[in-house]
Amino acid sequence: MNRREELDAALAATRGRIEAAARAAGRGPGEITLVVVTKFFPAEDVRLLAGLGVRDVGENRDQEAGAKAAELADLAGLHWHFVGQLQTNKARSVARYADSVHSLDRVRLVRALGTAAAQAGRELGCFVQVDLAPALGQDPDPGRAGASGEEVLRVAEAVAGQEHLRLRGLMAVAPLGVDPAAAFAELARTAERVRREHPAARELSAGMSADLEQAVAAGATHLRVGSAILGSRPPAR
Ligand SMILES: *Cc1c(COP(=O)(O)O)cnc(C)c1O
Repeated sequence: MNRREELDAALAATRGRIEAAARAAGRGPGEITLVVVTKFFPAEDVRLLAGLGVRDVGENRDQEAGAKAAELADLAGLHWHFVGQLQTNKARSVARYADSVHSLDRVRLVRALGTAAAQAGRELGCFVQVDLAPALGQDPDPGRAGASGEEVLRVAEAVAGQEHLRLRGLMAVAPLGVDPAAAFAELARTAERVRREHPAARELSAGMSADLEQAVAAGATHLRVGSAILGSRPPAR
């Protein structure tokens, strides 16, 4: 199999998993967007994926994502999702190529991204990243991404107040060592609270290669899938 055939087969298998999970949950597969996370893989793979009908791609490092987006500027209709931890000083760069940002977890970052999006003359879809660990009784870890408790509402409010940012909903990664079904159920509860204030924030970005079924069952609208489609990632450079 060449690389194109390999990606085609893995994509078909992943789409099959999503359809089965949607059916089991009584949902339509059309409600669910598959974001293929291409971090560490070359722009050429993204080009092959686009040829296979992929429209949504995810990246987690600004430098790599910006370079790939520039290299693939000729591909019309690709939607770039930034899913990684974001430093405030990278907001200007991300606002130039990203269409959605899934990792907003502090008010200062929201303000920087809102300003950057205005300067770039662009509108960005935004997800507030939630750290589910505290609500699941896990120890706090200062290095972990995501807002928790009342901070989630404060970050959502900040996004809603930015003219060039659109609050889409919440994002989370299931913490290690926790049943993903329980983790995503907690995310769905948090999302309900946010929707009381922001009814349009209906989307949920949850679920990766190992736990997309549990995420679909909990109402995920965006799945971020990397290794199940591209293979195991090469060691970090
Ligand atoms: C890498 C990454 C993914 C994809 O993970 P896989 O387990 O390879 O599917 C999803 N979300 C985020 C935030 C990531 O960094």
